[in-house]
Amino acid sequence: MPGILRQLSGLGGCTHPIRLDGHRTEYTVDTHTGEIGPALHHLDSATLPAGHLLVRCNNRRTTRCPACAETYRRDTFHLITTGLRGGKGTPEQVATHPRVFATFTAPSFGPVHNRPSTSRPCRCGTHHDQDDPRLGTPLDPTTYDYESAVLWNAHAGALWRRFSTYLRREIAKRAGLPQRRFREHARVSFAKVAEYQKRGAVHFHAVIRLDGPQGGDTPPPSWATADLLTDAIRTAATKTRVDGPTIDRRTHTFTFGRQLDVRAIRSADFNDGQELTERAVAAYIAKYATKGAETATGALDRPLKFAAELAQLDLSDHARRLVRTAWTLGARKELEHLRLRAWAHMLGFRGHFSTKSRRYSTTLGALRDARAEWKRAQTADTTAPDTTYILAHWVFAGTGLSDAEAWLAASLEAAPGTEGEPTT
Ligand SMILES: [Zn+2]
Ligand SMILES: [Zn+2]
Repeated sequence: MPGILRQLSGLGGCTHPIRLDGHRTEYTVDTHTGEIGPALHHLDSATLPAGHLLVRCNNRRTTRCPACAETYRRDTFHLITTGLRGGKGTPEQVATHPRVFATFTAPSFGPVHNRPSTSRPCRCGTHHDQDDPRLGTPLDPTTYDYESAVLWNAHAGALWRRFSTYLRREIAKRAGLPQRRFREHARVSFAKVAEYQKRGAVHFHAVIRLDGPQGGDTPPPSWATADLLTDAIRTAATKTRVDGPTIDRRTHTFTFGRQLDVRAIRSADFNDGQELTERAVAAYIAKYATKGAETATGALDRPLKFAAELAQLDLSDHARRLVRTAWTLGARKELEHLRLRAWAHMLGFRGHFSTKSRRYSTTLGALRDARAEWKRAQTADTTAPDTTYILAHWVFAGTGLSDAEAWLAASLEAAPGTEGEPTT
């Protein structure tokens, strides 16, 4: 394969790679004396076919880089499944622990167009199609509470943190344990993703697992059941409240919406279609991990620099109002900590898209390391890392591919998947 094709194929389909200028030299190290010996490998970006070292962008969003988003989706799928059925350092017993899949929504900020049922029309009198762009948009934009909608998104992360504290409290109460003794008996692990509803409100999908005192390695106590966990989640979610700012003499308080769905996760891979399986949950979470606010805004997937940009963007009126509200509120001194301008394209939400507690399962970093390790093994670089000394210096030289490189890259097929998880 010509050099340039080999270099491009190393990107695994990434279309917006980071270009680096510099060099890297690997030396042998004498394990007895610790002395640095002759150079083993020398790499200079100027000698590379593309003239630069090309590194994958690793962007999580499908709209930004489909190939890197696909890698992220696969990694997320593995991260979720290992927390549900074990593997990659997580014990298999976790499959027997109480586990639920819960969805937390935002409250109402005003009536929106929806599909109440196939027989009954929306409040506007229309039967909306599945892909009707009006779905999720306000019936009356002039009365819709845009300020609260944006501020709720901005406090969604804080709401989740408070909820997780309350959840431990509620579980302890049901187990008859004093709160401070809870950790000696059980642990709560979770993995969650944020997703945007069409109305532009963030909601959370979470896998919540109840373990023994040392996490997934230890069996949960006998009182720990999926029913107890479900009941505790419902109470904790209802009680969770976060005080927000006072704007023009209006005091904001944030809670979750009444729509709360909690379902136990079963181990079986296939069933009568009624129960929620590990696979379905992992596929669902992984799918949403690669999305941003685009569900609500369309194409807006990066921060705005000026309010004037808004006029040029192809956005729905509803999305435009949400972004503008975030931008306007972002000018207020007392809301500075919410960084609403920097996060206006996310409709105020500045939290992480997928997060998990430390003990849930493996990490995305570990999966990335494993992949790099595998790549090294494939290139037959047999040098043990502890006997080499690496001297490298790289500087940022830009992003993306030249037209010719992009054309060549398109002619290469993206690396086929070997993982076998569902693609939806
Ligand atoms: Zn990429
Ligand atoms: Zn309607």
